[in-house]
Amino acid sequence: PSLLSEPAEPALNPAQAEAANHGDAPLLIVAGAGSGKTRTLIHRVAALIRRGIPPHRILLLTFTRRSAQEMLSRCERLVGPASQSVQGGTFHGVAHRLLRRFGPSAGLPADFTILDQSDAGDLMGLARSALGYGDLKNAPRSAPRFPRAETLVSIYSRHINTDRPVAELLNELWPHFLAWTGDIERCFGDYIRRKSERNLLDYDDLLLSWALLLEQAPPIAEQIRALYDHVLVDEYQDTNPLQSRILRGLCTNGHITVVGDDAQSIYAFRGATIRNILDFPHEFPGTRIVTLEQNYRSTPHILDSTNVLISRSMERYSKQLFTARTDGERPWLVTVRDESAQTAFVVDRLLELHEQGTPLREMAVLFRAGYLSADLEIELSNRRIPYEKWGGLKFLEAAHIKDILAFVRLLENPRDEVSWYRLLRLLPGVGDATARNAIELLNQHGWAPMAIGAVKAPARAKPGLLAMAALFDGMGRVERADRPHSPSETIRLVRQLYDPLLNATYDDAPPRLADLDQLEIIAAGYTDRTEFLAALALEPPSSTQDLAIGSTDEDDALILSTVHSAKGKEWDAVFVIHASDGVFPMARAAVDDAQIEEERRLLYVALTRARNDLYVVYPLHSYATRTGADFSYTQLSRFLDPGVRNTMQRVTLGDVPDTPALRGELGLTPVEPVVDLRALLRGRFGA
Ligand code: ATP
Ligand code: MG
Repeated sequence: PSLLSEPAEPALNPAQAEAANHGDAPLLIVAGAGSGKTRTLIHRVAALIRRGIPPHRILLLTFTRRSAQEMLSRCERLVGPASQSVQGGTFHGVAHRLLRRFGPSAGLPADFTILDQSDAGDLMGLARSALGYGDLKNAPRSAPRFPRAETLVSIYSRHINTDRPVAELLNELWPHFLAWTGDIERCFGDYIRRKSERNLLDYDDLLLSWALLLEQAPPIAEQIRALYDHVLVDEYQDTNPLQSRILRGLCTNGHITVVGDDAQSIYAFRGATIRNILDFPHEFPGTRIVTLEQNYRSTPHILDSTNVLISRSMERYSKQLFTARTDGERPWLVTVRDESAQTAFVVDRLLELHEQGTPLREMAVLFRAGYLSADLEIELSNRRIPYEKWGGLKFLEAAHIKDILAFVRLLENPRDEVSWYRLLRLLPGVGDATARNAIELLNQHGWAPMAIGAVKAPARAKPGLLAMAALFDGMGRVERADRPHSPSETIRLVRQLYDPLLNATYDDAPPRLADLDQLEIIAAGYTDRTEFLAALALEPPSSTQDLAIGSTDEDDALILSTVHSAKGKEWDAVFVIHASDGVFPMARAAVDDAQIEEERRLLYVALTRARNDLYVVYPLHSYATRTGADFSYTQLSRFLDPGVRNTMQRVTLGDVPDTPALRGELGLTPVEPVVDLRALLRGRFGA
């Protein structure tokens, strides 16, 4: 071994070792942040392989594809290349693989297409207007409204993932829509019918179909169960009831390991529930429960702050984490005037740390929602500091990328109504009614593309309709006679029609065209169109870097991430920005106790990502939290109460008004404005 080989793996502590080497019976590891849950899981996979379990018969389920890859490559260091054949991925990714394989013997068409979240919204929109709720946009604001398509998708998804009746969910979460229960259910019925007639599956269908195969198709269920000897799940606190149903159906042999931390549950808003952890020992009798209490990640000071933060929760999380570390300084709570001062502080400090030897990649800036990093991103670009962004709006969610993919999907599945609707609406002169009539015609003519040429439409819409019909017809003919176009060929051909539309539609066409070039290059990595589409829909590139051509692992780049996407990760230095009320908790979450608790856990997840240096930055005012014309100061996040603040070093930087309130409580009590303009004006006119 070379002198440059990696530092030796530290030994597992006794509790970790017990879990890693545990036999076959069900195993539940519940433990706090940074206690080595994920690492123990990696060692358990290695131990199973060493014990002779064939690696391809081990299934590792994680929250993102990136985590699965990372865990398996760490496993490879322990047991060598054998670990490469371990089956790893997300619940959705594995469901998709199984459905491609077993779907046909369960009456599922082999050529189904996957609807992503926004496609599902479009299809729900079609179902919604079919019910006569199309143009309520023009209804008086005060009138009670039928839910928007996106809301309908959320309700539907909640219903599928939790298996609770719609009326019950409405009553609890959307009481203002309760009066529409009947129509909402009718709308769902139509949505489901449309999906099945058009060979479309949404994300929820992937999980639901997996569960149904296990529960209601005994011969197939047997085959699926026979694929795996052992199933392991990370981040179990963020699974939902449907996922727990799948595990019950899958692991009838009881060879299951799950790890989680109830204090880090942050996906309740999507139906995840820590009941899965609590109920696990009942679902799987004979479960061995292992708890871990030593934290190996953070300095004692960071741990002090996070322990106090989570102890304030109304729920009882029993674990009190300790560490053997003694180094480090207390976390910083930095108050700055506004967003640009926040950006300046973060950039200056991270450059200092970089100077002192911390690689950029070992630092992260975390925020509550994707748009909150805009100011920082501009500054990083100006200063040429490379960064990689996780979470937030993705490349694939951009309108022009979705347009192109709609073309590709139609060539795969001509009955994909959502894609037809999307593309028809791009054409000049084609409105909602024309698009829907055209789809009706397609439906009547066996989805032959030429049908759209015959739709009744304004004269100026005709050339576009004919050109689109001709494109699909021509490509279809070639494919029937010869073979399907490759993914990149397909994109090249459809761009002949699409690029001019793009130029006419968007003011900022050049960067969008560059994105399409990029998409073509990505497509060149696939030979099969179905595979290409499924890869993009299910395991979208999780960061801008994933897409960069020729990027290497040595590339040093700062990580910007939403807190949700930072789950399970750790960095030497962590900056948490926008630590104000209205962000933590998000203003719209601040209405209900359960949601506020989830926001507290979210801040807890953010702060527990730091190994050595933690900076929490609070801008006194920012556009992020500004509501309407009200340009008042924001309050410090309510979660950073005096007890938490006492564990931190507090500083105010730069041009911050020096009011008693600020000095004392750092903004917890309302801050007085520097001047009261209205009072001054009033004084002037003797009002
Ligand atoms: P989270 O709840 O945030 O997902 P976790 O419980 O999964 O955290 P890990 O990410 O597995 O924790 O481990 C946290 C850090 O502690 C890692 O850097 C890991 O390598 C280190 N670590 C874990 N166990 C030990 C140990 N026994 N000795 C030394 N370091 C350890
Ligand atoms: Mg982990």
